[in-house]
Amino acid sequence: MPELPEVQAHAERLTRQFGGRRLERFVPLTFTALKTATPPPEAAYGCPLVEVGRRGKYLLVRFEPVTFVVHLMQGGRLVVDEKLSAKPRGGQARFLFETDEETGGTPALLLTEQGTERRAGVWCVPTQGALDSPPLDKLGPEAETVEPDELAARFAERPMRLHGFLRDQRAIAGVGRRLANEILHRARLSPFVSTKTLGIDGAERVVEAMREAIAEGLEYERGRPDMSSSKDRPGRVHGRSGDPCPVCGDTIRAVEYSGYTVSYCPTCQTAGKVLADNTTSRFLK
Ligand SMILES: [Zn+2]
Repeated sequence: MPELPEVQAHAERLTRQFGGRRLERFVPLTFTALKTATPPPEAAYGCPLVEVGRRGKYLLVRFEPVTFVVHLMQGGRLVVDEKLSAKPRGGQARFLFETDEETGGTPALLLTEQGTERRAGVWCVPTQGALDSPPLDKLGPEAETVEPDELAARFAERPMRLHGFLRDQRAIAGVGRRLANEILHRARLSPFVSTKTLGIDGAERVVEAMREAIAEGLEYERGRPDMSSSKDRPGRVHGRSGDPCPVCGDTIRAVEYSGYTVSYCPTCQTAGKVLADNTTSRFLK
């Protein structure tokens, strides 16, 4: 799933490519693509694109007076649509912009989603107050900018495993499965440590690790012409089970859950302890 660095770099890319272009039409291609009834997408017709922004893992396609909030979920992409085919593969919705006077072309963006889940979607919300409208209103603070004291307060409010906390968008916004693994490795903390034991010292370590991991991802992603696929993204532990840890040389281990994998280095993170599936399962209760 695209996480903060991928979504942020993609937002910047789309702003460069489409900023200032006037929206002609928004066309849902499935019944489930548009999640809201009011305000109507028509409110943006004829308006120039102010920018594509980001909140958490959401893209904010911002016009005045309405913003289209786009969530890519697992397999979604918002891509430049050159073919404008009637039934694009995996097509969910299309933004058609007014004809480019120089080229005579019709610039368009297509929201696609591969796979069968069909959970990607678009919410049309008032631009004033967008952050206080669903689906953005329940998000926690941004992972890139949260301060240690705020994070420590959130740790105290939500006693849970740290890996789960980092993936919970209501706790902290923008981190997913991959970044959670990378952050914990940098912070030298066990994925299963309880947030209630971390305090301000733990929050400081997590904030520092989070900023480093996000900066690394952003630097990589900003150097690309398009959004990376997960196997290309930089990292030390995620997807590297069996490889040597780049810090200490121990073997990177993984614990599989339905839907995600916890990757970690025993020496750096769990005092050398290897967490087998049957020993970690009790942490899930
Ligand atoms: Zn290590």
